[in-house]
Amino acid sequence: MIKVTNLSKKFGDLAVLKGIDFEVKQGEIVVIIGPSGTGKSTLLRCLNYLETPTTGIINIGPVKVDAANASSKSVTQLRQQSSFVFQNYALFANKTALENVAEGLITVWKEPKQQALATSKKILEQVGLGDKINHYPVQLSGGQQQRVGIARAMAAKGEVILFDEPTSALDPEWVDEVLAVMKQLAQGRQTMIVVTHEMQFAREIADKIIFMEQGHIVEQGSAEQMFTAPKSERTRAFLARAT
Ligand code: ATP
Ligand code: MG
Repeated sequence: MIKVTNLSKKFGDLAVLKGIDFEVKQGEIVVIIGPSGTGKSTLLRCLNYLETPTTGIINIGPVKVDAANASSKSVTQLRQQSSFVFQNYALFANKTALENVAEGLITVWKEPKQQALATSKKILEQVGLGDKINHYPVQLSGGQQQRVGIARAMAAKGEVILFDEPTSALDPEWVDEVLAVMKQLAQGRQTMIVVTHEMQFAREIADKIIFMEQGHIVEQGSAEQMFTAPKSERTRAFLARAT
């Protein structure tokens, strides 16, 4: 379970997040949509303190961090509750697919190397890369690299996986295989928060859609409600342009 209360973020004088509140239940798939520059990435980054929020309380699983008095120990614990899938994969170029996935298990969770490698191999098999475990990122297609990125997030054992536009840097031919892996994860009820411009995909997998604009949540609701009967005129206008 995730609960975000009064989250705000300023970069200097620029207020990017202006009091965000939402909840995500365990096993829920939440998709965040909204115009460019609206604070979607900043919100995801604040959830695991890649950016330090200006105000707000973030509660993920057993960990609660209040920006007003965040200790480095609680921030470390919070980071262990979530893992990130980045638009540009952010893999280690000098490590194989297997080593990229195992890295967090070894350094964060202090698992013995052999055990971490065995677990990582299984996860790479789940994302359809059982035959590519010893390949380096440069030897993999964009879609395969992003599937390694997802496997790495799966290995992290956190409460939630955060996806920031995981398919928008991909050549069109690789998009479907990445979305298929995400659908498989969603069917396994992995809690996910996904920022995406893939509206058809959002409609298919989301339990809840959050529409953000200029640092605010304008509206949230089920995929069905948001796409067929949005309450806000702004949501309606955005979806009319985006779909
Ligand atoms: P997009 O759909 O284009 O990815 P977004 O909704 O993810 O947009 P953000 O990347 O969160 O938007 O950016 C929101 C605002 O915050 C933008 O005005 C951006 O310029 C600003 N911003 C983001 N990161 C920083 C930073 N590190 N320093 C200063 N300003 C920033
Ligand atoms: Mg963004």
